[in-house]
This record gives sequence, C-alpha cells and structure tokens, in this order.
Amino acid sequence: MFLTASVGVAARAPRRTSPGSLLRDADTALYQAKARGPGSWSIFAPRMRMTVLRRLERETALHGAAERGELRVRYQPQVELATGRVVGAEALTRWEHPADGLLLPAEFIRLAEATGLIVPLGRWVLAEACRQARTWSNASPQNSPLVCANVSVRQLREPGFVAEVVEALEGAGLHPDCLELEITESAVMQAVPEVRHALRDLSRLGVALAIDDFGMGFSSLARLRDLSVNGLKVDRAFVAGLGRDPGNLAIVRAVTALAHDIGLEVTAEGVETAEQARMLRELGVDRAQGYHFARPLAGEAVGDLLARDARLPEGAGPEGGVKRDRAREMAVGKGKRDRPHAGAVHAARRVRRATRSAARGALSVAAE
Ligand code: C2E
Ligand code: MG
Ligand code: MG
Repeated sequence: MFLTASVGVAARAPRRTSPGSLLRDADTALYQAKARGPGSWSIFAPRMRMTVLRRLERETALHGAAERGELRVRYQPQVELATGRVVGAEALTRWEHPADGLLLPAEFIRLAEATGLIVPLGRWVLAEACRQARTWSNASPQNSPLVCANVSVRQLREPGFVAEVVEALEGAGLHPDCLELEITESAVMQAVPEVRHALRDLSRLGVALAIDDFGMGFSSLARLRDLSVNGLKVDRAFVAGLGRDPGNLAIVRAVTALAHDIGLEVTAEGVETAEQARMLRELGVDRAQGYHFARPLAGEAVGDLLARDARLPEGAGPEGGVKRDRAREMAVGKGKRDRPHAGAVHAARRVRRATRSAARGALSVAAE
C-alpha cells in the first residue's frame, strides 16, 4: 500500500472567525494543497477562495468533456535523428473549453490527475491515438509510425488498464508494435506492485514503454532495466543546456551511452535549434522531437508528412499546421526512390527489441 497525506492549514483571525468558517478555510487550503499533487501542504490565504472556485468550475466542466467533443489530440512528430524521417508522433491533449478557449495540458492535466478524471480522459486519448495511427498506416502503409501516448500513474494503477490498452488497439485494428506508452519518471519511481505488473503485462503484449522527462527524478538506469522499459526521453531541460553548459553535455552523453548499453532507445525532447540537433546526432541519440522539427500538429498534417516521406526540419509553422516548402517537397519526392523501405523501420524496431531482451538477459546474469 502507498499512502500520502495532504494538509490544509488555516489560522483563526482574532474575534472574526467562527469555527465553521475556520474549517471551511482549512478545507480550501487543503483543496489547494491537493491540486499541487500528493503529499503537499498549503496555508490558507483569502485569494485562495477565488482559485478554488475556478478550479471547481473547471473540474465540473472537465466531467464529460470527451463526450461533448471538447477534447482534441495534437501529434508532435518524432524524427529519426540520423535521417530526419518521421518515425513516430507523440499524442498531446488539448481541451477546447467552451468559455476559456483552447487549453494546454498545464491547465487541466494535474486537475484531471488529482480528481481521477485522468482515467476516462486517458482512455479516450489512447483510443483516439490508436485510431489516428491506424489511419496513418492505412494511408501510408510503407511509412507507418509509432504513436506515443502519455499515461498517468493513476491509469497504470487501475486494475483494468492493460485490458483498456488491448481494447484500444483492437478497436483500431492497430498492432501493439505501433504503440508506445510514456510514463513519467516519478511514476516509475513509485513502482508499486500494481504499476510493476501493468508494465510487465504491457511489455509482454508488445507495447513499447518509455520514461518521459528522464533526468529530473533521479531514477537509476539499473532500475529501469528491471521494469520492462524500452526507452527513455531525455528531459528538455538537459537539451536546452546543450552547448551552454558542459555539464549537460556530459550528462546527455553518459545517459545515452548507458541507455544504449542496456538496450534502451533514447529520444531527446524539446529540441529547438539546429545546433542542439547536431550535438544530439553526434552523441548517438536515436530520436528527437521539438519545435526545431515540428510543433504539435493536427493528425492530418502528420499524415501529410508521412505520405510525402518528409525529412524534418522543413520550417516548423504554428501549432496545428505545417509550413510547406515546395522546393524541399520536390527534393523529398526525388529522394523517395532510394530511401529504405519503411518496413525497414519496423524490422529495425523488432531487431532493437531482440537486442534489448538479449542485453537484459546478459545483464541480469551478470548481476546475479
Ligand atoms: P510531455 O509528455 O513531456 O510533452 C512534451 C511537451 O513539450 C508538450 O507540451 C510539447 O508541446 C512541449 N514541447 C515540444 N517541443 C518543445 C520545444 O521544442 N520547446 C518547448 N519549450 N516545449 C516543447 P504540452 O502539449 O503542453 O504537454 C505538456 C505535458 O502534459 C506533456 O509533457 C505530458 O506530460 C502532459 N500531457 C499531455 N497530454 C497528456 C495526456 O493525454 N495524458 C497525460 N497523462 N498527460 C498528458
Ligand atoms: Mg510525453
Ligand atoms: Mg516529456
């Protein structure tokens, strides 16, 4: 069992606070503490009343947002650094709030996690992402990418989560090999038995597992090896520091080398400049995503990149669209004949998996 406690504190103002309002203030502070995540505390301040009210309104609106058709999924392309080819796309959720407009995850994912609404929301996103991946592979069978979905620890701890993944894959007719689930490092660090079992079952199913925002939670690579993980995503804070801070370069180099040694694939997040991309390529990082290559895009825009077998970057436009570069488009068209068949990407994926299992086997023997 894994228990956490959140605490709300309120002080009694001399002669003004009744026991009832004191308890209400402590409750407001508690609500605020819970919003920060498990195990937090908060001291009441009068401005919290408005914040809590807004949160309550948002929580009410989030109920049924998927059913009302207010959720959108954007897909940020992931490129193979060696070639610039789009080999994957991360599903990122947006909420078209009826009053507040398009909201980014920072404005609702934590709330969804704190209230448990992340479970139905995540289920919807997963099904949508699998459907989208199937559409891409139907339209460009020679170039079908990996679709990556973020999964919250709340979802992983649900007893029926693995069955939900199977349902999403079957509902879309998508091969498990085409799905990667991203789990944050902190979720993996909790590694309670339900989470460990879910990760093992997902891995047996053939779904890839990646650790998101790696490097911020101080988890050890040795631990990841035991948790059926296939890859890690280097947090964008480290990528941003490349070229500025020699310490960051050393960290990314060491993490990449160690991850490869134990058969893990490495993806860099938040790549914003050509210089960062070059350094990451030289360090042997496998995949990358970031504004340098493309913003999160509508599913059709990613489908267009796949159909053209585009090499990124080709000038990232605003979120939701992608700038077309006619000259490059033609160059890409020309290069089409001699590019490796995208079946090769899947074959390479299978080979990587086999190598990973072998590496795991070898390492576990060595550790005994
Ligand atoms: P993440 O999984 O680490 O996703 C990457 C975030 O970085 C995205 O933010 C993306 O838009 C942003 N990003 C990508 N490239 C760049 C770049 O070059 N520079 C900068 N500064 N940022 C970049 P977004 O879409 O706001 O999502 C934030 C986080 O919300 C995600 O971080 C993920 O942890 C969470 N999230 C999003 N959708 C879902 C979901 O459906 N379920 C769950 N559980 N979490 C989600
Ligand atoms: Mg992610
Ligand atoms: Mg991330």
